Amino acid sequence: MTFIADCMLGRLAKWLRILGFDVLYFSKAEDPDLVAIARREGRILLTRDSGLIERTARRPDRLFIRSDDWEDQIVQVLDEFELWDKVLPNTRCIACNLPLKPLARERARNLVTPYVGEHAASFAICSGCDRVFWQGTHYGDMERKIEKLLERRGRSLTG
Ligand SMILES: [Zn+2]
Repeated sequence: MTFIADCMLGRLAKWLRILGFDVLYFSKAEDPDLVAIARREGRILLTRDSGLIERTARRPDRLFIRSDDWEDQIVQVLDEFELWDKVLPNTRCIACNLPLKPLARERARNLVTPYVGEHAASFAICSGCDRVFWQGTHYGDMERKIEKLLERRGRSLTG
């Protein structure tokens, strides 16, 4: 299941990527272009624009995002498409939307701070932009936010 988010949903798009989902996002895009891409690639259109929902009849599949709050938005998407068990943080680049490749600690050490190099549980790198991601330091602001989100549906990162 893949998505395309409208211009108003940048934070939702970023967070869906953090959780491992494939989400196209352009800070500037015309509605007909979003609809065309969604149809061509079979992506679900996420939009805050009720007019866009009305204008696009049935295709592509789309979801009207109700809230302005990004956490509520994520909960709505995960609820709607039953994705809570498909959350895989640290598997997709936040910037490029590309899948990450595992990165050995010996190589990661040269690319991150000494603390992270020692304490992170695992590393991954984006083949598009070479950005390094890691998880398991337990002190990351992002990890806390992910845990908080999952707790809203009784899930956790470890189980
Ligand atoms: Zn990247």
